[in-house]
Amino acid sequence: MKSLIWKSKEEKSIELIEKTYPEILNPKDAIVKVTLSSICTSDLHIKHGFIPQAKEGVTLGHEFVGIVEEIGSDVKNIKVGDRVCANVETFCGECFFCKRGFINNCIEGGWYLGCKIDGCQAEYIRVPFADNGLTLLPDNVSDKNALFVGDVLSSGYFGAELCELIPEDTLAVIGSGPVGYCAMASARTMGVNKIIAIDIDNERLKIAKEQGLADYILSPQKCDIETEIKSLTNKRGADKVIEAAGSETTFEMAWKIARPNAIIALVGLYEKAQVLPLPDMYGKNLIFKTGGVDATHCKELVKLISENKIDTDFMVTQTFKLNEIEKAYEFFETKPEFCLKIAIEN
Ligand SMILES: [Zn+2]
Ligand SMILES: [Zn+2]
Repeated sequence: MKSLIWKSKEEKSIELIEKTYPEILNPKDAIVKVTLSSICTSDLHIKHGFIPQAKEGVTLGHEFVGIVEEIGSDVKNIKVGDRVCANVETFCGECFFCKRGFINNCIEGGWYLGCKIDGCQAEYIRVPFADNGLTLLPDNVSDKNALFVGDVLSSGYFGAELCELIPEDTLAVIGSGPVGYCAMASARTMGVNKIIAIDIDNERLKIAKEQGLADYILSPQKCDIETEIKSLTNKRGADKVIEAAGSETTFEMAWKIARPNAIIALVGLYEKAQVLPLPDMYGKNLIFKTGGVDATHCKELVKLISENKIDTDFMVTQTFKLNEIEKAYEFFETKPEFCLKIAIEN
């Protein structure tokens, strides 16, 4: 079957090759026929050798929707023929961390699919702990509606959850891209009605406003963000900040625009170490939280989608076929046209 693999750290490249069909290796496994998948920025991080735990030759991809093809003898909650979406995390559900909802640190799991074991940019995929890793889709939720549930949407929701949001909060979201949009959409479901989106890309900001996700949009190229946030918050600063961009400038911006005693959720994937200037922030009493999404809300997210409370369809800006996936990667990396997320159709 066709599979898109990451070649090696030295080559920093990908290739569409033929691999053998996956088989059930454990009674808790399921084999899923992939119908729609996506390319994630994390796939590019692997391609460029930034993810040390990634296995050379692995089939990439961890966001997908598909039809259950085969199940192991110990799989209870799903059956052959079910339409499902997948969780980016592989988790046992029984260890110390899983029992507390910290599935990203499951002692038998974590980010496996498309990193340590073969992922979904292929015709079929083996999903370990299938009862935990797959979520059943109702008929009114299309493949496209559900594509981002287990990764991007879960990450955005996780960021919002880390912020312990209350409706009176002013929430600043740095990074008006897919994770940022999902964080804003999740914050809306938690009742927050003052959301400020920050990005350097005006097109991305415009979408946040058009989709009803942000009430204010700010670009550091047009204004001083710190001053602007102060003027929107009675000179206090943002009550909660979600940093979804993952760069040095945005890391610094996150704590600078936060009011004293604010919660700052860092959900971006940083490629370098960041400096935390404790003397400068002494007395501001900030709370930093980091993630590594614990994607434990897939069922609720599917329900919110089916009730039209969350809609991520607008994020699919391009669609390619699996046999054009190398071209899709090139498009995603060079972005010759406006691009948020690319869907891969099988
Ligand atoms: Zn991802
Ligand atoms: Zn576990």
